[in-house]
Amino acid sequence: MRALAAVTTDLVEEARRRHGTLPTATAALGRALTAALLLGGTVKDDERVSLEFSGDGPLRGILTDATPAGHVRGFVFRPRTHLPARAGKLDVGGALGRGILCVMRVPLAGGTPYRSIVPLATGEIGQDVATYLLASEQVPSAVALGVFVEADGRVGAAGGYLVQAMPGAAPGVLDRLAETVETTAPPSELVRRGLGAATMLAGLLDGVATPVLDERSVRFQCRCSMERVRGAVLAMGRAELLDVLDGERRAEIVCEFCAERYVVEEPELRALLAASADGGTSQER
Ligand SMILES: [Zn+2]
Repeated sequence: MRALAAVTTDLVEEARRRHGTLPTATAALGRALTAALLLGGTVKDDERVSLEFSGDGPLRGILTDATPAGHVRGFVFRPRTHLPARAGKLDVGGALGRGILCVMRVPLAGGTPYRSIVPLATGEIGQDVATYLLASEQVPSAVALGVFVEADGRVGAAGGYLVQAMPGAAPGVLDRLAETVETTAPPSELVRRGLGAATMLAGLLDGVATPVLDERSVRFQCRCSMERVRGAVLAMGRAELLDVLDGERRAEIVCEFCAERYVVEEPELRALLAASADGGTSQER
């Protein structure tokens, strides 16, 4: 078997702060960020994993991606989504609605991504990821994800785990595990009790000898930079640049993934305009 667990409270709270999400959207984003990190931990070191959930509910969609190094970023399409609780839980399935999950494994060095699409099972994220793993990668998996949102909207606890039966696993092992998962408190509750990733797994795999093979720190980390913003401004082309210089005289760009705001002021816009006159090869960066 292979088992991974993650405690993601701080990075989900950072995502909430950056995007200004309301509780249902916070839970959806937090679960998807945690899922991306867990899947990112199962792929080769030269790939990143991207999860795109699209649904017909008010949230519309979620996009997250994670690297094997434990860096994750993401956003929801409608951050101000909040629905009445259902059965005492934040209604992530209702917010996402019916739709699809697209999983991409992208080589870090460039090249063709491996892409796979499955229908959403419940829109609750965990079950959807388990469905993907079984349907597309033929790996029976148990996935549990949870975000606890405090009364004031902040993230009090977040985490999740992924347990997979590898080829050759004893028959029935996953069935017994499924029973344990059923009777175990949700990961957000385990994290609230102060459990770490290793203790979470030890409780789950009770009785199975489980050496810890690897431990990584995880964090919210985007790949945007001023350098990339300059590239994007340059890629607008000379006519657009001249338009901006005629009008607002500054370009403001907000990163979709992390909500970081970049401003390119007039002197730099002029420098970029001059650079684009030098042949514009830097557009291809
Ligand atoms: Zn960013």
